[in-house]
Amino acid sequence: MSEKSKETELENLRRRVQRCRRCELWKTRRNPVFGEGPANARIMLVGLGPGRQEDLQGRPFVGAAGKFLDRLLEDAGLRRDQLYITNVMKCYLPDNRASEDQVKACSPYLDQQIEIIQPELIIALGNLAASYLLGKFGLKPESMEKMHGKVYEASTLILTLRIVPMYHPASALRNPGLRDRLIEDWRELGARLRELKLI
Ligand code: URA
Ligand code: SF4
Repeated sequence: MSEKSKETELENLRRRVQRCRRCELWKTRRNPVFGEGPANARIMLVGLGPGRQEDLQGRPFVGAAGKFLDRLLEDAGLRRDQLYITNVMKCYLPDNRASEDQVKACSPYLDQQIEIIQPELIIALGNLAASYLLGKFGLKPESMEKMHGKVYEASTLILTLRIVPMYHPASALRNPGLRDRLIEDWRELGARLRELKLI
């Protein structure tokens, strides 16, 4: 698919998310956060869902966790505009968590984003994104302690891709002991991406 048609398909999907009422989170959202980045990105980054700042601005990772993420990307030698950035959940999560039913309702949008963009690698931030994505490709999620920084190989009939689970940047804000671990993980990830010639 050409970049142009990927853009068109993403735009159509964005419109559907804009008016989505498939779960009750539509009632408390201000702006759905669809995601942003180049339609032909080779790398996708997937978080949990919008927080308050993201809900206000309609953009992913623009609050406190996003600020830390920016620093981690810089450490890895990555620019935001090299990535397509989105979340499993598209509407504001008042309790910062999503129920199984909410994930079931919303994840088809992420599935379609992946099908359209066809990334070569997905960075999964935090437990929910990692277990959703590994599960989707028939791989077995483990604890983040075991998964973080590991490169998983996934394949389906139409695509092969790698999935790298990482601690969520917000977890280092809650637990400062994780901060150095995250910084180290992202440096290593940057090196790995260069090895794989993805950046
Ligand atoms: N946390 C997430 O998981 N996603 C965002 O977009 C912002 C914070
Ligand atoms: Fe629809 Fe997802 Fe928003 Fe629920 S969270 S209303 S499924 S876009």
